[in-house]
Amino acid sequence: MRVNLLGMTRQTLRTWVAELGEHPYRADQVMKWAYHRGAASFEEMTDLSMSFRDRLGALAEFKAPRVESVQQSSDGTRKWLLRLDDGNAIETVLIPEERRTTLCVSSQVGCALNCSFCSTATQGFSRNLNVQEIVGQVWLAHHALAEEDPDGPGITNVVLMGMGEPLLNFDNVVEAMNIMRDDMAFGLARRRVTLSTSGLVPGIDRLREVCDVSLAVSLHAPDDELRNTLVPINRKYPIAELLAACERYVAARPRARVTFEYTLMAGVNDSPAQARALARALEGVPAKINLIPFNPYPGAAYRRPAQADMQKFVDILHRAGYTTTLRRTRGDDIDAACGQLVGRVQDRTRRQERFRARLQNEGAPE
Ligand code: SF4
Repeated sequence: MRVNLLGMTRQTLRTWVAELGEHPYRADQVMKWAYHRGAASFEEMTDLSMSFRDRLGALAEFKAPRVESVQQSSDGTRKWLLRLDDGNAIETVLIPEERRTTLCVSSQVGCALNCSFCSTATQGFSRNLNVQEIVGQVWLAHHALAEEDPDGPGITNVVLMGMGEPLLNFDNVVEAMNIMRDDMAFGLARRRVTLSTSGLVPGIDRLREVCDVSLAVSLHAPDDELRNTLVPINRKYPIAELLAACERYVAARPRARVTFEYTLMAGVNDSPAQARALARALEGVPAKINLIPFNPYPGAAYRRPAQADMQKFVDILHRAGYTTTLRRTRGDDIDAACGQLVGRVQDRTRRQERFRARLQNEGAPE
């Protein structure tokens, strides 16, 4: 089996190249060819010796997940369904905007955190993605854009906000983000890589020690009572503890702010009183607020609020002095909007439940 160089940091690749008896600097050349110039094979890497290219061809490859399908929304949003080697599937979404192109990347197959409004949560959890599966999502989108427009800006921003809780796959996610940020790879500035978490306090503190990316938090409620029902991890890490961790995260980063994601659901968390409570809760935290209209999916228990109600919510936060955006929903026609990434994940939890239910219906002993 050939070694997949896609999941290797520059340092690991240098070590690997040195073990082959080559100067470690050759690793930088290989990365430049692969990431910057889009070389499809080692043959094309003409500033490497022929014998080294032959060895690379025999020993190594850059292998991303297999593209099973690509859907394009009428608003330009694009969604890839990717098949992994073990048969699992994940989704990745590209959101082109006027001044940036954002890729929303998955970090796990499914998710175990069971947020009540989230479509991914309905599938249960299968496993963590490895580094190459995370970086591979950026690689595929990067190459697709480069093919269409070689002189275009390509991907300008990456958000780890797809399927899964990235802080529960800490080591692989951090390593993948380091590759995204490496100048020899995708070269994204720290502000352009955002990790979005549902609020794992120890993970936020750990991230602060090892990484310098932007932080987003899925808040969705202004108080613990409601957040406990929407984001169950809140029972373990309530809002006060979460906000304290956010303050610690930005304390050492001048001008940094935490983005708070807040999905607006009709009659649940969208009242003017809740907007005022949110403003009070975030007092003192360097914050931006990103309001997301709920995207209904089959079987969802929630509804999207009326536009006028959402606007009222925005206005209250603006008046309280917060930078607040009401996100335009994107990719509705291809189920690519936030919270709708489902893939065709192997659903062990539900399969087990179905199996037990069938046994009970059939009167068989469990
Ligand atoms: S919202 Fe995020 S953390 Fe919560 S269940 Fe969905 S994928 Fe997991």
